[in-house]
Amino acid sequence: MKITAADTIVTSPGRNFVTLRITTEDGITGLGDGTLNGRELAVASYLSDHVAPLLIGRDAARIEDTWQYLYRGAYWRRGPVTMAAVAAVDTALWDIKAKAAGMPLYQLLGGASRTGALAYGHASGRDVPEILDSVRAHLAQGYRAIRIQSGIPGLDSVYGVAASGAGGGDRYDYEPARRSGDGPPRPVEEVWDTRAYLRHVPRVFEAVRAEFGPELPLLHDGHHRMTPIQAARLGKDLEPYDLFWLEDATPAEDPTALRLVRQHTTTPLAIGEVFNSPHDYGVLLSERLIDYVRSAVTHVGGVTAMRKLLDLAALYGIKSGIHGPTDISPVGMAAALHLDLAVHNFGIQEYMRHSAGTLEVFRTSYRFGEGLLHPSDQPGLGVELDETAAARFPYAPAYLPVNRLTDGTVHDW
Ligand SMILES: [Mg+2]
Repeated sequence: MKITAADTIVTSPGRNFVTLRITTEDGITGLGDGTLNGRELAVASYLSDHVAPLLIGRDAARIEDTWQYLYRGAYWRRGPVTMAAVAAVDTALWDIKAKAAGMPLYQLLGGASRTGALAYGHASGRDVPEILDSVRAHLAQGYRAIRIQSGIPGLDSVYGVAASGAGGGDRYDYEPARRSGDGPPRPVEEVWDTRAYLRHVPRVFEAVRAEFGPELPLLHDGHHRMTPIQAARLGKDLEPYDLFWLEDATPAEDPTALRLVRQHTTTPLAIGEVFNSPHDYGVLLSERLIDYVRSAVTHVGGVTAMRKLLDLAALYGIKSGIHGPTDISPVGMAAALHLDLAVHNFGIQEYMRHSAGTLEVFRTSYRFGEGLLHPSDQPGLGVELDETAAARFPYAPAYLPVNRLTDGTVHDW
């Protein structure tokens, strides 16, 4: 089953996506997601200039060998651009293998371990009444687990908080990567105050628990903005509200920072969305410093790398919490859902609904109901790309925001 074509498709139905489509000599096609939010064209070039020529003539069935060939063969290993490209190839080859077998991918991964994957949605608001409304709206949509992000008094905009009422669409839509207006594209700059945040967030969770009771699983994302001792304090302050997890408490480059956080709090911890290799998890798994692995299939090196990572985590009793914001394309989301259904140590799946424009380009078959996601039983990943629709949405430069402290110092966004 030789590979005859490997095409990189960049499309922007409201936000940018990089998709690799691999075609075999017998006409089977597979899709892989290589989207790297804000740096999309670097992955597109890596794929079309440096990877696609190597794929032509290779046996599409040799997934592990191709992964090792691209990973070790480049000499320059890891990094977000390289690993998103490797992930795109790997995911497309798994799509092809499952289509050739006439099975949904989860069957090749060992079959279903559950009936569906518990999904969490993103509730947010500028103040407590808006947050309570947002939680109610998510419960009405069927979510059974909810992430809570809040505006902070004195700050104009905060990560994870939807611009309520803006744009005339769903008032809970949230898209941090902003396209340029007039002039050259520049990231929006936001202002941040960690002390104000630490004072406010426990009050928010107190209000949410008082309104919705003790059972609803609640999550929160710290977005890598705290020092270890600040994160330790927040974890302690949130213990009365029984979080499902506190995510990205400290900057991701130093996993050992979580040792100090762990010593001070029993709030469960999750991290990994900006990691780009299973190797990034070394001490986090072996010292049991986290409870959930947060990588995206798209950014950790594909289905092959994610399966190995989750199997290693399982040996330490650590569960999955695969990254699933809207900058993971429906192709990357479908790959996550097949893993969610198959692995024993599934924890929860992040699920932000894609826009109508995105779902026009990517024809999905996965389904959401009663709080659970299912990848569908179509052969392969169960996602098709409508190339005509994709061509109607050309690439548009967009950047994630840059963050500064109140004195102007650049801080983690
Ligand atoms: Mg996060």
